[in-house]
Amino acid sequence: MSSNRVYRIALFDGDGIGPEIMAPTRTVLDMVSKRVGRKLEFETLPAGAQHYAETGEALPASSIEAARSADAILLSAMGLPNIRKQDGTEITPQIDLRFALGLYAGVRPVKLYKGQPTPLADPRAFETDFVLIRESTEGLFAHMHEGKVVDNSYATETLRITRATSEKLFDFAFRLAGQRAAKRGTPGRVTCVDKANVFRSFWFFRSIFEERAKAFPDIAADSAYVDAFAMWMVQKPWEFDVVVTENMFGDILSDLGAGIMGSLGLAPSADIGDENAVFQPCHGSAPDIAGKGLANPLAMFLSAGMMLEWLAGEHEDSALSEGAQMIEGAVSKILNSGSTLTRDLGGEAGTQQMSDAIMGLVSA
Ligand code: ATP
Repeated sequence: MSSNRVYRIALFDGDGIGPEIMAPTRTVLDMVSKRVGRKLEFETLPAGAQHYAETGEALPASSIEAARSADAILLSAMGLPNIRKQDGTEITPQIDLRFALGLYAGVRPVKLYKGQPTPLADPRAFETDFVLIRESTEGLFAHMHEGKVVDNSYATETLRITRATSEKLFDFAFRLAGQRAAKRGTPGRVTCVDKANVFRSFWFFRSIFEERAKAFPDIAADSAYVDAFAMWMVQKPWEFDVVVTENMFGDILSDLGAGIMGSLGLAPSADIGDENAVFQPCHGSAPDIAGKGLANPLAMFLSAGMMLEWLAGEHEDSALSEGAQMIEGAVSKILNSGSTLTRDLGGEAGTQQMSDAIMGLVSA
């Protein structure tokens, strides 16, 4: 791979703390791409609550198209509680992008570092390092604006599971488990989380999982009911590797994952489709701390690292994978030592101090 290769990254700065954590993330990406001999070209695209307030549009079609043609998309937190549509709901360009670009695999890593606080008392908690994959284009969200309230006496919503998306989702999960197994030198495992004991749609989901598992004989495959799995996430999260689930279950379990990680400020995410991928922190725009320099930028940095890792795989460019490891390594070093902790992690550091600590490591 030539070092002249330029990767075009679409950026959405977002609202609230969004721009505050995007600015140092750009600097970190500039530093690591320079060190690994690659060039990233950034294009900032308009979208978000502030843009909606000014123009009446939350995600312009031109931004979707520019994002579609970029090599990867990095998105900061979007939405503001005081800017709402006429029906009272908040704008959600991050969800609209998943549908527009067919980003069916929502990747939510759950990993703990030694120097950070955690609500889990068991010392094995710090071995926790699993990835939750939330199907992101169907399930209970497939018809999300079409729910009905009939005669003010009952309400219905529709859950939709398709064979085509489920097959792609499970193949993605097994491939990810294979990559993690190769990297970590451990056997890979995928757990399907569903409610197949009660709902036919989940029995269908699980049967497709079992079919696809046969194509990946080196990876262990098992299933769990979502209620039991929620309990195990708190009791023994260190036992899991790759976990794959339906959209609504994934929505809830990924917040539980962020909860056991100790802070939303540490939780990165990716939404991946066949052609495009969006990377963003799991947290929102945190209007309560916006403009105060207090936001933890690590979830955003880790999301940028996931972006480099995904680009490395798509373009068979191991230099970018090295760049990703520099970011992840710097975050691990800071958090394992506990030397710099932001307020959400029980420390005193602000966005700048945490950014400086990471930049000091990645620029070396
Ligand atoms: P959304 O619905 O957009 O996800 P939300 O209101 O549910 O947003 P957040 O905006 O993520 O949630 O904020 C939840 C709490 O977490 C707030 O108290 C906020 O200050 C805190 N928080 C979120 N992100 C960070 C961060 N990066 N650093 C520090 N605190 C954060």
